[in-house]
Amino acid sequence: GADDCISLQSSSAALVTRLRGVRRICDLEVALHDALVQNKMLSTTDELTGLANRHFFANHWPREVERAVRRKGPLSVAMCDIDHFKLINDTHGHATGDHVLREFAVRLQQSLRRGKDWVARLGGEEFAIVLSGVSAAQAINIIEGIRRSIRSRPFGSPTTNIPITASFGLCIADGAKASDAATCQRLLSLADKALYKSKHRGRDRVTAAQVKD
Ligand code: GH3
Ligand code: MG
Ligand code: MG
Repeated sequence: GADDCISLQSSSAALVTRLRGVRRICDLEVALHDALVQNKMLSTTDELTGLANRHFFANHWPREVERAVRRKGPLSVAMCDIDHFKLINDTHGHATGDHVLREFAVRLQQSLRRGKDWVARLGGEEFAIVLSGVSAAQAINIIEGIRRSIRSRPFGSPTTNIPITASFGLCIADGAKASDAATCQRLLSLADKALYKSKHRGRDRVTAAQVKD
């Protein structure tokens, strides 16, 4: 495993020179590794909220589906969209809109089971929440809890308190048998359709769709 060798007759000056070279390569290797870790973190994190981003979601959602199929367990995904968010920007300004998005992300995370559920910002004021291993009733309870936690307390900004509501579309897959790309996509589009129904029915609500195969 040696990278280099030096004869016993070499002078100590030659040894020191050689060690300096080795040290330089080691330092470069450490810096490169740190940069890679940092890069990976940045490429999977949403800059504004610190949540996972769309890229992370696209990679990890299929893994969640695979795991649920393997375990023959339930898996739920909720699409969440803040109601009339454009109005917040128009009324209070874009910076306040950003502030609301950050606080919204904190409330989402606070309502989830640590280490089990996860949430990603898909873009704009849209988020996806993944819950694994919970029954349909539990999933609805968790998402209802999040909806209530959003509407129960106005969002603080330095100048004003802003009431916020959000709509949710929940897809509960109980015993999915396949984890191919089409299945992964179908579950997301069922959650999307349920979200659309929540919006259509008046917003600030959860609509759930259950899939049995
Ligand atoms: P709906 O209840 O139907 O969802 O209405 P909406 O106003 O929430 O939806 P719409 O799609 O019309 O508007 C979304 C707005 O979100 C428009 C866009 O300017 C704003 N937005 C998207 N990304 C950001 C962001 O990063 N920061 C801020 N402040 N606003 C954002
Ligand atoms: Mg939207
Ligand atoms: Mg919206």
